[in-house]
Amino acid sequence: MKNCVRCHKIFLSVIGETICPECRVMEQTMEEQVKDYVRDHPGITIRQLIDETGVPDKLIWRMVRQGEFENASGLEVQYPCGRCGKMIKSGAYCEECAVKLKMEAKKFADSMKMRARKNEQATTIRGGSKKTYSNTMYNEIENSRN
Ligand SMILES: [Zn+2]
Ligand SMILES: [Zn+2]
Repeated sequence: MKNCVRCHKIFLSVIGETICPECRVMEQTMEEQVKDYVRDHPGITIRQLIDETGVPDKLIWRMVRQGEFENASGLEVQYPCGRCGKMIKSGAYCEECAVKLKMEAKKFADSMKMRARKNEQATTIRGGSKKTYSNTMYNEIENSRN
């Protein structure tokens, strides 16, 4: 038994659902409504879609994330790039930002690599004394064997 996250009614959760069957049907109906609306208004912005259909924005954004409006769907919506706010039709960022973010990610990865290399060098230096220590240990073990 679980509390529906939407209507808070108790329902039997069979496969770990978080919303009750009634709310599920309601969401599916709303999703269909949104798709129909987009079909009739190609290129509509998400903002307009939320205002005009009255469907909760959370649900619409989830549809965006799930790729319901990707090219293959034939449904065209526009929403702001998550970084610069420019209107985009797919993905989370506009092309420019996607390129910039990729570059930044690479720079970040490179600096991490560089840091790792520095740490490696540091451990090598420290490792020198460690080595003599372990050599001593090794000798001790060898000696105790004899
Ligand atoms: Zn419910
Ligand atoms: Zn952008």
